Amino acid sequence: MKTALKPVLPGATLGVLGGGQLARMWAHEAQRMGYQTVVLDPDANSPAGWISHHHLQKDYLDAQTLAQLAQQCQAVTTEFENVPADALERLSPKASPAAQAVAVAQDRAREKAHFVACGVPVAPHAVIQTPEQLAQVSSDLLPGILKTARMGYDGKGQVRVRTREELIQAWDALKRTACVLEKMLPLAAECSVIVARGRDGAMVHLPVQRNLHRDGILAVTEVSAGNISPVLATQAVQAAQAVAQGLDYVGVLCVEFFILHDERNGELVVNEIAPRPHNSGHYSQDACDVSQFELQVRCMADLPLTQPRQHSAAIMLNLLGDLWFTQGEQPSEPAWSQVLALPGVHLHLYGKTQARVGRKMGHLNITAPTPEQARETALKAAAILGIAPF
Ligand code: ATP
Ligand code: MG
Repeated sequence: MKTALKPVLPGATLGVLGGGQLARMWAHEAQRMGYQTVVLDPDANSPAGWISHHHLQKDYLDAQTLAQLAQQCQAVTTEFENVPADALERLSPKASPAAQAVAVAQDRAREKAHFVACGVPVAPHAVIQTPEQLAQVSSDLLPGILKTARMGYDGKGQVRVRTREELIQAWDALKRTACVLEKMLPLAAECSVIVARGRDGAMVHLPVQRNLHRDGILAVTEVSAGNISPVLATQAVQAAQAVAQGLDYVGVLCVEFFILHDERNGELVVNEIAPRPHNSGHYSQDACDVSQFELQVRCMADLPLTQPRQHSAAIMLNLLGDLWFTQGEQPSEPAWSQVLALPGVHLHLYGKTQARVGRKMGHLNITAPTPEQARETALKAAAILGIAPF
């Protein structure tokens, strides 16, 4: 039987582990809804630390700090999966998602095993932890991508391998750490789904997002009706819900998918999960009546979840540090005024003081009444900023 939840109401203090852009956007939403916020991040210059009511500038595993956080906050969440599961464990039962769910998302091998257990399709793969496992790898998995089991993001910790010799070299280059070798799949497209699940098991989701990656980093997300075939979209939502349910997950979860071969009759394969809001869900800030960050607040505070409604076609363009270097070696500010002169352009910058190539500095959400108009404006904005057309 469902037990009624006792919500943590506005006025209370909510906490987050990690002080990057995801925590910053979460804190903005939490504050809008009347909560006080606490950020734990050892970095003095963290995007969320700057805007939060409180910033605990300590290590994630500092026992005294965790005790203080637990005492100060009525609920705590995380903005990244590489937070030590131990920290979440110590914040239990105030922490969501729970340590055991984050531990699965932290480790590609465990993540894959979870997908298999949930009956959702995964890429053919092998776990490589020992030289014997390396030697036994089936040739069917080549060409493939060798990925470190832990700590990878934005394509880091990944090596593409064509032959057995390259595989051996790649594993050496990755310092023989635990890895997953995945078969290289022919991708027609990529998509993702954000689901939010409450402590009572209630689930809502955002519309399926279509994603374009460049050099292993998300570049563009497009979300509009008909963007993904309805059959695949339904499959993706159902798979994401099964993955969340299987983890007894509480919070916002992003599930990333590959669409193989022919897009219309394509096959869907789960790639990976992120136990938090995701870059591909940022469009929801301006194109939906409930954003992924509000969903995160609602989940952790045990507030009701209502199905978000997308009211505008949307395109999200990631703003990487590269855009600060289009004029030469010295960084210069991109032409924001020109971009903001276009209709439906929403600028989000994370307040990072130093632009670096490949660093996520912000994003643009472009909203419009129709997908065609969103695309037209997004292409104009991309041209102004020096983002390659898509
Ligand atoms: P992030 O955490 O930033 O999403 P990541 O570093 O965890 O990224 P993946 O999601 O595993 O990396 O891979 C990044 C991109 O590389 C994918 O979105 C896809 O474009 C490509 N890719 C990864 N695995 C495969 C595969 N098996 N076959 C084809 N392409 C792949
Ligand atoms: Mg990914």
